[in-house]
Amino acid sequence: MALKGIDIFKLTPKTNCKECGQPTCMAFGMKVAQGTAQIEQCPHMSEEALAKLGEATAPPMKSFKIGPADAELSLGGETVLFRHDKTFVSKTLFAVSADAAGTDAAIEAIKSVDYERIGERMSVEIVNLEYTGDSAAYTEAAKKAAASGKTVILSVSDEAAAKDALSAIKDSKPVLNGANPSNIAAFAALAKEFGVAIGVTADDIDTLYDAVQALEKEGLKDIIIDVGAASVKSAFANAVQIRRAAIKSGDHSFGYPSIVNIAKLAPGDASMQTALASLFILKYGSIVIMEGMSYAQALPLFGLRQNIFTDPQKPMTVETGIYPLNGATEDSICAVTVDFALTYFIVSGEIERSGVPVNLIIPDAGGYSVLTAWSAGKFSAGSIAAFIKESDIESKVKNRNLLIPGKVAVLKGELEENLPGWKIIVSPGEATSLVKFLKELQA
Ligand code: SF4
Repeated sequence: MALKGIDIFKLTPKTNCKECGQPTCMAFGMKVAQGTAQIEQCPHMSEEALAKLGEATAPPMKSFKIGPADAELSLGGETVLFRHDKTFVSKTLFAVSADAAGTDAAIEAIKSVDYERIGERMSVEIVNLEYTGDSAAYTEAAKKAAASGKTVILSVSDEAAAKDALSAIKDSKPVLNGANPSNIAAFAALAKEFGVAIGVTADDIDTLYDAVQALEKEGLKDIIIDVGAASVKSAFANAVQIRRAAIKSGDHSFGYPSIVNIAKLAPGDASMQTALASLFILKYGSIVIMEGMSYAQALPLFGLRQNIFTDPQKPMTVETGIYPLNGATEDSICAVTVDFALTYFIVSGEIERSGVPVNLIIPDAGGYSVLTAWSAGKFSAGSIAAFIKESDIESKVKNRNLLIPGKVAVLKGELEENLPGWKIIVSPGEATSLVKFLKELQA
């Protein structure tokens, strides 16, 4: 149960030494209770008090990392059920599933979908390897998957096969996903021996709860709960129930990230898998395993994931400044658009596609899209001209042609008044027409 500020205060040394950055121990207790200060910030807490407070103020869901040191992936750490309450912490990770025979093809297929959207890399992060009975082939497949640089999930419930595969790829910090009530002690020992996260599943949620507690008793902390694949209904119910128990009821035994194996829920049905993946991005798949990830699947799924796991309180912006694209020099034409990240990446992408050198000027427009910023007065002739002057762009660029977005063509006259010597050119209304427009302009 969460402690109140007064309870935390009672455990402090009560010396008001201020070393924690707070004026009094009471103020410190209040801050810790609110979650805006950490107990460790007081260097004078007794071991006994730390142990007591550590348990009581622990976050409702564990967070930890999996995968190779140079490409670690974060899991868990969520504190709310709904994105409108607070930002979600660890984005849903995508895994593509393969058996030993299909590993090469799966790795190649994963490589074919890898792109950037609004400054974030969009690619499948994990290879899930299903064990089909040939231990030697499974270990070889694990080596190939680990060598691809992706995080590996070893979905295997055979102890000997799991041990061989773990021995071969332990340095890449795979997930051992194969614990169940019948092998819990052996798999707990393997996870401890190789220092890897462990995935656990069971036929029903009560047995699953007991299995998680059994792993906790073995001292394991990096646990992932596999919600099962008996049916879509039960997987969804388990995912929601587990997360609600952790966040709403503070049940630490269900305070772990989850795995949802959609490849098993809808085998051979890419459309259904895409629909289910979108469902479990929202509710509450930490790792979603699919049979594959084509571009047609990736575009909506990665877009949804990015929207859900972006901090809604922070506008997605790019830094203001001047961005020379396609090797632009001081003699290259200028263009201006807003600092809303989505607009910037769309416009800069089209300019890059045109191959025409352009100095793209990004003023502070409040992180809004073009029309919203314009109607809010944050992307006006005055603000654009002021930015160009304050940023000393006129001494950095000799070219005095400035493209403005077609949607704010109305700014042309006023901008010419505010920027004497500049020629203002109105771009097309849609960014997709920029390539043709720029090429014709350059010709
Ligand atoms: S550092 Fe500890 S003892 Fe000092 S004021 Fe803060 S809570 Fe009190």
